[in-house]
Amino acid sequence: MPVPKTDILLTQQEIMHRVKDLALQVTRDYRGKKPVLICILKGAVVFLSDFMRYLQLPVEIDFMAVSSYGAAATSSGVIRILKDLEMNIENRDIIIVEDIVDTGLTLNFLRETLLSRAPRSLKIVTLLDKPDCRAVHIKVDYCGFCIPDEFVVGYGLDFNEKYRNLPDIRILLEFKS
Ligand code: 5GP
Repeated sequence: MPVPKTDILLTQQEIMHRVKDLALQVTRDYRGKKPVLICILKGAVVFLSDFMRYLQLPVEIDFMAVSSYGAAATSSGVIRILKDLEMNIENRDIIIVEDIVDTGLTLNFLRETLLSRAPRSLKIVTLLDKPDCRAVHIKVDYCGFCIPDEFVVGYGLDFNEKYRNLPDIRILLEFKS
């Protein structure tokens, strides 16, 4: 696969250590509970698959897809549900598993949508956070890494559906499709 012009931001090893730490923290916090992990497609699938394997809890998983970004690497702010959950989450402990928080609009929308279904609790875990880009306040309960305002790809994150399978996280320096 041709590799785009990038700078490595986070190596495979750094990601793995942090994902393990996050999973240990969540394992401690949810002892005795059976949380449902809600993975936000498609970017969070790689994170989910590593994260859930380090969790020592009887978890269930479900998937949701929303659209907020088109082909351009900017936020449009318009959010639609493309795929809804299969599970009834009423009275369940929900953990949203997200790849990256940028403006916060996506998570804000997801949080409101899921809270209207009366879960027992709802928390958010994100691998990456770009705190400088916030348009709305959103409480992130567990965060892997705070990163600068750069467009990143790899470890599930794409540009025009490409580069999701890069094992590390890279800053995209050249926006060619
Ligand atoms: P927000 O609604 O917080 O602005 O955007 C969240 C979504 O935008 C993420 O789930 C992700 O799909 C996309 N996004 C935000 N920043 C980046 C980035 O640097 N790289 C990639 N590939 N996607 C991003």
